[in-house]
Amino acid sequence: MESQLNAITVLSGGTGGARFLQGLLHGIHSGLVSPTARVTIVANTADDVWMHGLKISPDLDAVMYTLGDGIDPEHGSGRRNETRSAQEELAAYGVEPTWFTLGDREIATHLVRTQMLEAGYPLSQITAALCKRWLSPAYGDTVRLVPMSDDRVETHVAIADPDAPSGRRVVHVQEYFVRLHAEVPAEAVAVIGLDESVPAPGVLAAIAEADLVILPPSNPIVSLGPILGVPGIVDALRATSAKVVGVSPVIGDRFVGSANAGASTGSMGEQLMTATGVEVSAAGVAKLYAARSAGGVLDGWLVDSTDAAVVAEVEALGMACRAVPLLMTDHAATATMATAAIELVG
Ligand code: GDP
Ligand code: CA
Repeated sequence: MESQLNAITVLSGGTGGARFLQGLLHGIHSGLVSPTARVTIVANTADDVWMHGLKISPDLDAVMYTLGDGIDPEHGSGRRNETRSAQEELAAYGVEPTWFTLGDREIATHLVRTQMLEAGYPLSQITAALCKRWLSPAYGDTVRLVPMSDDRVETHVAIADPDAPSGRRVVHVQEYFVRLHAEVPAEAVAVIGLDESVPAPGVLAAIAEADLVILPPSNPIVSLGPILGVPGIVDALRATSAKVVGVSPVIGDRFVGSANAGASTGSMGEQLMTATGVEVSAAGVAKLYAARSAGGVLDGWLVDSTDAAVVAEVEALGMACRAVPLLMTDHAATATMATAAIELVG
């Protein structure tokens, strides 16, 4: 047991990050990981989108609902016992877009967020308010969810379009994922507003003051990529006295796919890694993040047991590496995986 861990900071996307966090918190609760550890989650907001006048933050919501036991367990996103009456009514009015999934229960969250934004509150304060419902009952103030930035940042994907004068068209990452099912080859990824964004209050301190920083198996291009792209965050990771350890979202030459509303987070990863010119492998993702000793952000990297052959290649990048089972099949398996990550750099 790592009794010295008091502050753990996790940089998270939506479904993959949320499931990892669930396992980590299970490990803390069951004493596998230091029971005194407080967890700060810095979540991606570059998947955020405005729809029908509502501000939607899919990754913040995925983390809140998962940790607050409100998630739809079948899809790993959205609320359980959800209905879609409002979406059906909008479609009956012919209001576009019709492809975006809008659950009635989710709309309540979107309304609270949108109204508070319009009243002038920053996203970080709104998130804290929403978490009073989802995190406080189970975790008190030991788990904190913070958006990477209060600024508007949105990821767009360029795809081929023979009908467009330029031969390509740019779609919001939500349209790429939900409407196009990440099946169309991606040509490029652009995160609008990222260069001008600033970390939300508390983000840099959570990295600087952590005893350990974890990069869970989130999508490296559209989840962790934007977080690392917020000016100041990589510098904070390089400067912190905490060790930084990551878990591969890729096993073999595939992203671990979880079926999600017709689209797969796995195919999303593969298309976007390929578009970005990164090899789809556990070593490819490790190279993308790179070792702290070589100007990157990682001190350690976990790969799946079936990828034991790449351990030496990853170590040669200048970081610790170990092969362990990386499938988050249940809380206990995920907690064991989180413990292995902690021990790797402990
Ligand atoms: P998103 O915002 O919903 O796309 O969620 P994340 O970016 O946080 O996580 C998506 C990634 O989680 C996918 O690219 C998968 O590769 C990864 N993933 C999902 N399930 C597992 C699992 O059981 N093990 C590992 N290692 N990765 C997983
Ligand atoms: Ca996401």
